Amino acid sequence: MADDGLPKPEPKEIDEKLALQLKHLAEDAVLKGKPYGDEKCGNCLYYLNTDEDISYCWHPKLRILVGMEWWCQWWEKIEE
Ligand code: SF4
Repeated sequence: MADDGLPKPEPKEIDEKLALQLKHLAEDAVLKGKPYGDEKCGNCLYYLNTDEDISYCWHPKLRILVGMEWWCQWWEKIEE
């Protein structure tokens, strides 16, 4: 990118606040960016759209976007 004299983008206070909130949320859920054996967001009850690589997790303690290959301790089997 050309140097156009504009200040370099930097995280703002809101970004630091959100980053901290999300970090605590992820720690609470023991959220990991990879599957736990056969368990992963993509085959969890709370993963809203199993056709998407990234989808909304509607678990009441999360309510965030997660990746299909992620996992957390609240993983729940989808009943047939
Ligand atoms: S509850 Fe956990 S495992 Fe299930 S979709 Fe949400 S983050 Fe993924």
